[in-house]
Amino acid sequence: MIRRNPLRQVIRMKRIAYFGGTFDPVHNGHLTIARSLVSLFAFDRFYFLPAFHAPHKPDRPPTSGYHRFAMLAIATHTDENIAVSTLELDKREKRYTIDTLAELHSLHPGSRVFFVMGADSWTDIRTWRNWENVLTAADIIVVTRPGYEISFDHVTDAARERIVDMRLTESVAMENGGRRIYITDAVRYDASATELRTDLSDGHLERAEDLPLEVAKYIEKYELYR
Ligand code: ATP
Repeated sequence: MIRRNPLRQVIRMKRIAYFGGTFDPVHNGHLTIARSLVSLFAFDRFYFLPAFHAPHKPDRPPTSGYHRFAMLAIATHTDENIAVSTLELDKREKRYTIDTLAELHSLHPGSRVFFVMGADSWTDIRTWRNWENVLTAADIIVVTRPGYEISFDHVTDAARERIVDMRLTESVAMENGGRRIYITDAVRYDASATELRTDLSDGHLERAEDLPLEVAKYIEKYELYR
């Protein structure tokens, strides 16, 4: 019997990522982010986390969670490490990220949990409930987005101290010892769900290449965004 020397076993914590958003619909910007981050951070699992929105909200209600989930599932079905979480949709009420993050840690004990957001969400972070705690409740990854500057003036000194700015470097410098805020420009994909919805309702898709083909077919079949 071969005995392994326990000292030689490299134990690596699992790395799990969650990418929150409305995904109405999912587009190739979202997908490029997921695929690039899986290889950059060596994630064991990367989850899209579509948000539930109350149908009675005064602003434009998003497309049903069933459709948004289906489009995400179709778009990712061949990506081995990428899946869709129903955690927030299942709650049937609006969830704050701070509460979701607490739940994610109990779902993945012993794993390192990362929360992914785009540059526009980072700019608006102070509007999030309990935002200072959100930034310490998980490792955060901020992805650059064309048209949005990334600044650090709006966060606290304590948050700034935990920033790992990976822009202009080729490899990921994974830091141990405490949660970090990683800034990466590994993805620069100019696409927007709002623009896609506007184009679809006008009946002409200016940038059809921003939508995965199977998602475009689904939208057509179920007559969404008309
Ligand atoms: P909208 O155009 O309606 O704002 P969206 O394209 O930003 O929609 P969301 O579902 O709101 O899509 O985005 C989910 C998350 O993905 C957010 O954190 C957002 O910042 C990020 N994101 C979306 N598109 C991009 C992109 N092209 N580059 C970087 N981040 C993006």
